[in-house]
Amino acid sequence: MKHFDYLCVGSISEALEIKHQHGTDAVFLAGGTDILLLAKKGIISPRLVISLRNIEELRGIRQTENKLVIGSGTTLRTLEKSKLIADCFPALHDAVSRMASVQIRNVATLGGNIINASPGADCAAPLLIYRAMVTLVNRQGKERSVPLKRFFTGFKRIDLKPDEIVKEFIIEIPPTGAGSAYLKLMKRQAMDLAHVGVGVYLSFGDNGHCEQALIGLATVAPTPIRAEPAEKYLQGRVIDQDSLSAAAEIAVGSISPIDDFRGRAWHKTEIVKTYIRRAGMLALSRSEN
Ligand SMILES: Cc1cc2nc3c(=O)[nH]c(=O)nc-3n(C[C@H](O)[C@H](O)[C@H](O)COP(=O)(O)OP(=O)(O)OC[C@H]3O[C@@H](n4cnc5c(N)ncnc54)[C@H](O)[C@@H]3O)c2cc1C
Repeated sequence: MKHFDYLCVGSISEALEIKHQHGTDAVFLAGGTDILLLAKKGIISPRLVISLRNIEELRGIRQTENKLVIGSGTTLRTLEKSKLIADCFPALHDAVSRMASVQIRNVATLGGNIINASPGADCAAPLLIYRAMVTLVNRQGKERSVPLKRFFTGFKRIDLKPDEIVKEFIIEIPPTGAGSAYLKLMKRQAMDLAHVGVGVYLSFGDNGHCEQALIGLATVAPTPIRAEPAEKYLQGRVIDQDSLSAAAEIAVGSISPIDDFRGRAWHKTEIVKTYIRRAGMLALSRSEN
């Protein structure tokens, strides 16, 4: 790994000011579990690494009325141990508790996982089905908010300007009775990236029919995506194995998997179908329907 200077800053404004002064020579580090690998492999050669780890305002989970605000520097382990996440956002809990190892989860952050913008980022599908909003702050202190769905703009590309930092993610607390789940296919039982990741969220009306269905998919397109035609199909229907199987057939029209180290495209397509049904049934079992 090439030599670089390392600077730990204490506030968002300081981080953005120093980044501005050094331009493309500087990069941010949250947990470092993605960026340091890139530096080690020589894919990037920063002269300055600005650590965000001491910025209090980037960390933690807080509830405001019906919303949850998660700081981008919140570690995966903090999310995993949060009762609020386990109770209200089980798909996110499913995802973080199966990522990497406890040691990695102790330092790796939610923001780092999303900003790294891997098509297979495990937190992406859960945040997509909870319709997360991303809050960005610029050097002038101005904030803007982008739906996560639009934050991913292409393969490994995100809507983040050079003078911006990702501050937090905001998700609405689901209505009582809703259910959600995230399933991930790995070759090994632990310490493996998703070969396919599927998140399903379901809420129900008084008649027991599906009011809202949201489906998030990882590793089957250049970015994490929502399977919107399949979601529309499920709305107003009774959720069971048959309706979920039919939705899964529709969902594969939204995906564009490729053959890669994670597996063959045809296999990923089959897994998407199976996992939409299974994640849907798990979400149903976790709902009060
Ligand atoms: C052994 C191992 C196992 C892993 N297993 C998994 C897995 O199962 N699933 C999975 O999805 N990933 C996995 N990963 C990848 C990685 O751990 C996660 O993506 C992690 O969440 C990244 O977070 P981080 O804080 O370490 O990011 P960092 O490496 O610190 O940063 C990632 C990117 O985000 C930028 N960044 C960070 N914070 C901000 C901010 N606030 N504003 C602007 N830019 C910012 C950085 O500049 C960098 O470009 C694994 C990695 C390792 C090494």
